[in-house]
Amino acid sequence: MEKYIMALDQGTTSSRTIIYDKAGNIKSVVQREFTQIFPREGWVEHDAMEIWASQMGTAQEALLKAGLTYKNIAAIGITNQRETTVVWDRKTGIPVYNAIVWQCRRTADYAAKLKPHEEMIKQKTGLLADPYFSGTKLAWILENVPGVRARAEKGELLFGTIECWLIWKLTGGQVHVSDYSNACRTMLFDINTLKWDEELCGLLNIPMCMLPEPVECSAHFGDTIDEIFGGPIPITGSAGDQQAALFGEACYNEGDVKSTYGTGNFLLLNTGDKPVYSDNGLLTTIAWGLDGKVTYALEGSVFVCGAAVQWLRDQLRFFRDASESEDIAKQVPDAGGVFVVPAFVGLGAPYWDPEARGAMFGITRGTTREHIVRATLQSLVYQNEDLLAAMKADTGKEITALKVDGGAAMNNLLMQFQADISDVDIVRYASIESTSLGAAYLAGLAVGYYDSLADIVASKKIAKTFKPSLGEKERREKLDGWHRAVKAAMAFHEA
Ligand code: ADP
Repeated sequence: MEKYIMALDQGTTSSRTIIYDKAGNIKSVVQREFTQIFPREGWVEHDAMEIWASQMGTAQEALLKAGLTYKNIAAIGITNQRETTVVWDRKTGIPVYNAIVWQCRRTADYAAKLKPHEEMIKQKTGLLADPYFSGTKLAWILENVPGVRARAEKGELLFGTIECWLIWKLTGGQVHVSDYSNACRTMLFDINTLKWDEELCGLLNIPMCMLPEPVECSAHFGDTIDEIFGGPIPITGSAGDQQAALFGEACYNEGDVKSTYGTGNFLLLNTGDKPVYSDNGLLTTIAWGLDGKVTYALEGSVFVCGAAVQWLRDQLRFFRDASESEDIAKQVPDAGGVFVVPAFVGLGAPYWDPEARGAMFGITRGTTREHIVRATLQSLVYQNEDLLAAMKADTGKEITALKVDGGAAMNNLLMQFQADISDVDIVRYASIESTSLGAAYLAGLAVGYYDSLADIVASKKIAKTFKPSLGEKERREKLDGWHRAVKAAMAFHEA
């Protein structure tokens, strides 16, 4: 009987299920959007029950669409939006409050109060004191939802991030686990000892009996209950979306790095078996736990990547489809001296200036739409290069290749410019679905569907490699122009 892996990809705006064969070909895919809840300015919630229903619905439909039964599925792998926080009743399975989403800033004041402890937080968790992570979101639920603290202290309630919630639901409430790559985003988990940390839980006043058991990313967590697929399927893979993408891009060696060019951009560098702490505002995170070993990563993100292309499309109305940006930019040999700084929501690493706003420099009477489009695409590359430079500084090591995925990675002009500016080979695999593939690989490894990492690497096809072709002097000049532009944009709001 032909066997497949089912990947559950629980994202911020939609739940998807993809069924893969061993070569990574898609047998079927089903996607369902769910409600985004904005109760107040800056607050973002999801209904955890709707997440569950949409995820289960897509899984059942994907199986049906592929003409398969549970017997054809060797294993399930899960990847998920990270940091989003759910608290539910361990008996009834009913959440006590909506899931508080990673984007939600309601705990900004709480996180600010943790600033005096930031060095301790960094050493233990690899993170910054920021509302982005689950810890303050969980503390908020405990403090603000009536009756919740007392019930939690009595051991009646459970906490989990989304992979934990889905595994609990899939196993009919029998398994309460969180894989290391997700646990490490809570700000409650010590990435060195691989345990929930008493001091951090004390600081945030969190009863430790609510916390799931931390587990590796590729292991037999449990089986789905028969009611869901008609028979059991083992759940054997789990990783947060960005770490899953790193795994899906086969970044298995120290020094391997991937970049996901989506709405924003996430860059992760495999730093091997030791955490590397950043002096440049990058996060230290667990990439995955596998076969008794933990692999760490440095993570940097750019807030505005493909979103800048959307801005050209929707606000400036330069084109109708993001993919047209490439042909338009190609109509000019260069950006004509224009630099766009797309700091629409401030600047992240390595600048960390939340007040900064976008700017455009070097405009003349001859500047055209084509120049602005080209300069905007180039800005995505420069932002990425700033993160790569920070990673090189933090590790003291060279980076020779960058593996790419995400929607904007299909833009060849953009990829060539990245190769030129970062002076690295850009590797684009045939499938840029690396997030769900990563979850499928982790699940497949645990059940022998894949024998080894080498087996996975052998199954992957490189679609295109972009080689650097720019001289060092020209590269330096362009980067210098970018850095002057960023500095000028930051100076604008300082006055
Ligand atoms: P997400 O998962 O964050 O929604 P995707 O990986 O689907 O993002 O990528 C979509 C983003 O990539 C959009 O912001 C879009 O503007 C941009 N994009 C898609 N195709 C191209 C392209 N050919 N050139 C440049 N940008 C693109």
